[in-house]
Amino acid sequence: MKYIATGVRVLSFGLFLFLILNGKMMIWLGIFAVSLLLAVFFGRIYCGYVCPMNTIMGPIEWLSKKLKLQTKAVPKWLLSNKISWIALFVSIVIMLASKKLAQVNVPILIIWLVISVLVTLRYQTYVFHNLICPFGVLQKFFGKFAKYSKLVNHDSCVGCRLCEKTCPTEAIVVEDNRKASINKALCLQCTNCQQVCPKNAIHYKKR
Ligand code: SF4
Ligand code: SF4
Repeated sequence: MKYIATGVRVLSFGLFLFLILNGKMMIWLGIFAVSLLLAVFFGRIYCGYVCPMNTIMGPIEWLSKKLKLQTKAVPKWLLSNKISWIALFVSIVIMLASKKLAQVNVPILIIWLVISVLVTLRYQTYVFHNLICPFGVLQKFFGKFAKYSKLVNHDSCVGCRLCEKTCPTEAIVVEDNRKASINKALCLQCTNCQQVCPKNAIHYKKR
């Protein structure tokens, strides 16, 4: 499963580069729009498998840890939960204004890709996913209605916290009752938690 997931991410990243380099950014934005509808049924599949930012953030996070650049601290101004909505608004305004006034397509996706790399060099991945990404904030909004998502079987869970440590978005948390729970709005459906769970307690199910 791990290798299939990696293969899908690499192929999606290749498609992204192909479309962007050939001036077909709108096709990618169309894929993103469809993924928002799919998120209502199947969760944030786009974020976990298709998003170029999520794909590139994996190796960048590895590099950040190797170079000991990563910090657990988060700038206070990011914690308001408003930054990602502001980022979305500013991105849309820049795209529309540059098209209308200068007939130029600003490479907004590449700009956000670079920002995701820079943020991940310093901060844990959830900072970009949950607090900054203008695409993630829409996925989060639609993802909270997901009919299918990861679910923890509380009868099997022993509260070991291995899942919590591996989750890129802090979507899974072990509660005071020593049972893990998943916030489907934050879950990227990446399967990291399933892969480390010693009790096979996490499954993709109707919720
Ligand atoms: S690790 Fe589990 S809970 Fe976290 S985003 Fe991936 S699938 Fe969702
Ligand atoms: S890894 Fe599995 S057993 Fe451990 S806390 Fe998470 S869901 Fe529970």
